[in-house]
Amino acid sequence: MSGAFERWLGGGQPLAGASVPAVGLQFWLDEQGDVQHLGGPLRAQLPPVAQRAVRVQDALLPHSAVVLEGAPQDWQGQPLDLDFPTVQGASLRTRGWLQRQGAGWLLQLFDIGDLLGAQQHQAVRDDVQRLAVEIGRAVRECTGERLLPVIAQQLQRLAEHWQARAVQVWCHEQGDWHSHAASDHHWPWAAQAQVRPWLHVLAQQGDLDDRALAELQVLCGGLPLRVLPYREGGQVQACLLCVAAEAPFAQAASEALVQALLDPFLARWRQQHMQRSTDHLHDLQRQLGAGGWHWSPDGLLELEAALAERLGLPCAVSIEHWLEQLHPADREAARLALQQVREGQALSLDLRLSQADAQGDTRWLHWVGALHGGQVRGVVLDISALKAQEQQAGAARARLENLIASSPAVIYVQRYDEGALHSAFFSASLEPLLGWRSDGEQVRQPGLAVHPHDREQWLERTRTLLREGQVRCRYRLRDQLGGYHWILDEARLLRDDLGQPLEVVGLWLDVSDATEAAERVRQSEERYRALVDDSPAMICRYRPDLQVLFGNRPLADYLECAPDQLAGMNLGRWLSDGDREAFVQRLASLTPEQPLSSAEICLQLPGREQAWWVWADRGLFDAQGRLLEVQAVGRDNTEVRRSQRQLLQGAKMATLGELATGLVHEINQPLNVMRMAVTNSLKRLHSGTADVPYLSEKLQRIETQVERTVRLVEHMRVYGRRSELERQAFVAWRAVDGALALLGEGLRGRGVKVQAESPASALQVLGHPDQLEQVLINLMVNARDALLERRTPAPCIRLAQQQVEGRVCLLVEDNAGGIDPRLLGRIFEPFFTTKPAGVGTGLGLSVSHGIIEAMGGTLEVANAEHGACFRVVLPLYNTS
Ligand code: ADP
Repeated sequence: MSGAFERWLGGGQPLAGASVPAVGLQFWLDEQGDVQHLGGPLRAQLPPVAQRAVRVQDALLPHSAVVLEGAPQDWQGQPLDLDFPTVQGASLRTRGWLQRQGAGWLLQLFDIGDLLGAQQHQAVRDDVQRLAVEIGRAVRECTGERLLPVIAQQLQRLAEHWQARAVQVWCHEQGDWHSHAASDHHWPWAAQAQVRPWLHVLAQQGDLDDRALAELQVLCGGLPLRVLPYREGGQVQACLLCVAAEAPFAQAASEALVQALLDPFLARWRQQHMQRSTDHLHDLQRQLGAGGWHWSPDGLLELEAALAERLGLPCAVSIEHWLEQLHPADREAARLALQQVREGQALSLDLRLSQADAQGDTRWLHWVGALHGGQVRGVVLDISALKAQEQQAGAARARLENLIASSPAVIYVQRYDEGALHSAFFSASLEPLLGWRSDGEQVRQPGLAVHPHDREQWLERTRTLLREGQVRCRYRLRDQLGGYHWILDEARLLRDDLGQPLEVVGLWLDVSDATEAAERVRQSEERYRALVDDSPAMICRYRPDLQVLFGNRPLADYLECAPDQLAGMNLGRWLSDGDREAFVQRLASLTPEQPLSSAEICLQLPGREQAWWVWADRGLFDAQGRLLEVQAVGRDNTEVRRSQRQLLQGAKMATLGELATGLVHEINQPLNVMRMAVTNSLKRLHSGTADVPYLSEKLQRIETQVERTVRLVEHMRVYGRRSELERQAFVAWRAVDGALALLGEGLRGRGVKVQAESPASALQVLGHPDQLEQVLINLMVNARDALLERRTPAPCIRLAQQQVEGRVCLLVEDNAGGIDPRLLGRIFEPFFTTKPAGVGTGLGLSVSHGIIEAMGGTLEVANAEHGACFRVVLPLYNTS
């Protein structure tokens, strides 16, 4: 075609008329430029629309249509480069001229596509070459760490060059494919695992067929894909995947670029890989304490550097020197082994070094070697740690075996076979325990030696063991001499990986002593329980908060419930608030050193007036000395109390009786005064001299005397009453005043002077005021009797109060000469009296002593200068 173009140009003048040869593309136009005829062989390439075009411009590609401006005569005299669309899709690139042709014009065009292509190819080739050089240099010259980032950059350049969406590199390494980099940082399409099989096909077949390419293309999002393999010695070693490239792709150029990238990359990558592997190997050798050795032809043993360093030897040593390093006991074996390895036998020896390590432990080496192609070579491994572990394990095993053999328990193993257990092992302690021989019948069938009463337990043991995997039970086994031993059997079933029973490991412990002791304890507990239950005393255990843990029948009977209802009840519920507080305070004073305490407690029992119990407590403490619980024994003291109260009342009434003479005088006195006033008033009335002031004075006198008598009688009534049950706080001196009210007048009537020293402070005590009054009356009556009996001149009773260290002391002192010192020790005895029969009862002082003791005080006596001096000492009641 270009030849025709040359000829056509060479003609100088345009051809005229119909003789124009049909070459290229020819448009015959009229004066206005409308197409009259279209000719030339290139015409067939134009699409039908272009072939039918009215104007040339309509047949052209848009960028060429703008070239033809105005009418045809304006286009004359210049070459016209016009591009047309073709039916094949590519553009038809033409160059031509416009010439006069009769009345119209001829536009003659030639295909110059090849010409332009050649020029373009040259430019592209230059470009590719430049790019290849740059890529190659970048990859070769970067540092080792930068290799992969640089590869990614170069892939990006390639992607730009090919106007591709992304380019990825894959390398075939050790039988598998790896992708190290892509132009884009991440490859947005298929996962590596999906791509690999196709790359394996590529490696095996050297290329991918259309089907495989289509599959791979699907994995890359269905975009047009190019696979650019890189080969070494005909083998595909790497490849680039290039997705959606838009630039034209020349095979040779792309191969050049792939080579420029991968030649240096693979070389450097492999070198790095090799370096890493070597480093790893050295590391590993260092860590393992391993290294190669080689017997050089000149008779030296050459050791790898790391090994030589570890052993503290030069890298090449003579055989003799080597053997010297070994423990003397291993040298001969080593020498023989060396000889044998030369004869073709494999060498494998564990050796000790003559020098111990820094800790003084023996160093062990495992030495292997063989003859390879006439050369003896092998490996030495430091196995000191392994040997040490082996030795430790051996020692532990020996200790365990020793322990099993010396254990007082029999350790045994039974093998499982088809639902039955067969004895497989018994430890050495079997013989001392049961006297059974290890090969005896009993060992084979221990069930036969089980006590007839315990056979069911024995069978149940096996069933439980197989069902639940473990068991703990007791039964009796007969020993060699026919005696029975209680055996505690604890066994566990071991199963294999599939859960099938394998064997039973268990131990037998002779618990005869413990079992018998437990039996004795049980019997003694039973006796103790019977004792507690049958005891007439109340026995119980309770917590410090008074909650009952256990109580026996008598206690339950008192509290009117069943014994098993006692647990959980609170003892405090039957105590008054004050008594409960006192009870709890008493418990608080218990200590591990002084765990005992007793008291008489007063309870409000259901349906009963009141009960008095003598109650003894023993506290139980934990290791820190905290009170855990209290054990108590109680006895009902209500009857004794009752008779005591009756006695007290009797004594009181006796005192009253004694007072009677004085009281008669006491009552007579006001009566006399009143009679005198009445008689005198009547006289005046009769004589008519009674005036109002006189009468009113007399009546007032009578009223005063009536009031005095009423007070006295009232006091006697109160005194004669039974004491209140609850103690109360009262002023101690009040009892002195009370006693004087009853006794004072009578004493004075008998000529006895009463010297009552009223105290400055009103001190309080706790108890019953009438009882203290009774005590004081007793003391004053005794004093009066002694004074009158001994006819003491100026008889006098002194009453006083003192306060000594938190106590109140009331003194009753007379001047009757005192008590015979021989009698001093006896006067508090009940029924001791020196008074004539019918006069003294001998109860006054003994009852008084009891009353004061119950108030927490003491009644003391001493002979003073002029007579007896009684001291009532009572604890001060602190109101604050
Ligand atoms: P009673 O007065 O009925 O004899 P008490 O127990 O009151 O009984 O007294 C016992 C004895 O103590 C008296 O008989 C008496 O001998 C002696 N006694 C008591 N008080 C005095 C006193 N103040 N001086 C001398 N003896 C006394």
